[in-house]
Amino acid sequence: MTAAPLATLAETAERVNLLGLTRPELEAFVASLGSKPFRARQLMHWMYKRGVDDLAAMTDLARDFRALLGERAEIRTPEIVTAQQAGDGTRKWLLRADSSQAFEMVYIPETDRGTLCISSQVGCALDCSFCATAQQGFNRNLTAAEIVGQVWLANRELGYAPGGDRIITNVVLMGMGEPLANFRSVVPAMRILLDDLGFDLSRRRVTLSTSGLVPQIYKLAEESNVALAVSLHAPDDELRNQLVPINRLHPIAELLAACWHYIDEQNGRSVTFEYVMLEGVNDSPAQARALARLLAGHPAKVNLIPFNPFPGTRYRRSPDAVIAAFRDELLQRGVMATVRRTRGEDIDAACGQLVGRVIDRTTVRLGSRGQVVQI
Ligand code: SAH
Repeated sequence: MTAAPLATLAETAERVNLLGLTRPELEAFVASLGSKPFRARQLMHWMYKRGVDDLAAMTDLARDFRALLGERAEIRTPEIVTAQQAGDGTRKWLLRADSSQAFEMVYIPETDRGTLCISSQVGCALDCSFCATAQQGFNRNLTAAEIVGQVWLANRELGYAPGGDRIITNVVLMGMGEPLANFRSVVPAMRILLDDLGFDLSRRRVTLSTSGLVPQIYKLAEESNVALAVSLHAPDDELRNQLVPINRLHPIAELLAACWHYIDEQNGRSVTFEYVMLEGVNDSPAQARALARLLAGHPAKVNLIPFNPFPGTRYRRSPDAVIAAFRDELLQRGVMATVRRTRGEDIDAACGQLVGRVIDRTTVRLGSRGQVVQI
């Protein structure tokens, strides 16, 4: 038997990337090729359990079917532009979106888990004043295949062996972009992460972080049940309007109502509220008390993130003692709070430091919902 001939570029462009298809979509796709739905399960097994991206190597698929697949489909991950490793073991990859665009993915090893932080967009349109990604502007949404492809690729890069222990135990959508502004690709991608024939991750180990797109949080409650994190960063609307401008459209009270709805609908444990610690801006004891008043008695926990600086920023990180005092104010008022350990700083892989490369910048300004959100 000979392998399928090498594809030309034109053929490649027309092929369906199987990495972006949910199980029902893959079943429909194999049916459209005249094959039985169980072939979809076989394909998923090869792709996700055995880590195979070469259709020709899938030896238990009928030869004719394999040949047809070779013409119509492919398994293609984003291409690696550069790979870096920090002193603390954190790894960062710059991945190609197209000839002039790139986005980033970060792996954070810890003793009891390995977290992969993936991107959902090239750049970001939301313009949060303390985030390096915002400075890059927005270029485009990633496809479901590019989102799933990050996890597939990271497993390969990290040396995952089929049947071996998981290396990636948790996935967080906390890289570049606003995941809920790319709902159409992010939701199917998360289905593949959770599918037992896909990456088979528990819903509590996949976390979607949003800056607070309220209508999309309600929609997410209907379509997904992953863990929810919300970038709050301020205890009042006046300050949050400055730090997270989407707050002007969806103020804190509306945002929190959406969060509690999500937890009710999804039988979730709690929402994690991310709160970046900016010296002299949002880190006073009075602000901690105001935050506690918003959250006490609700299914909430707070994750305090020491600000990670980037060139040109006007903010400074709060001193450790101030962060600890802020945490203690919350704890004393019955609000669960932790301080996030900063990882990968020496390779600019820490929260808010991912910039990728956005060259053909389409400047999308925050103005109406329609401009920043696609459903
Ligand atoms: N757009 C989504 C996903 C990004 S998650 C969101 O806003 O939630 C990345 C997290 O890091 C967010 O909580 C973000 O607010 C935070 N962050 C952004 N810039 C930061 C910085 N410079 N230092 C620390 N955290 C930052």
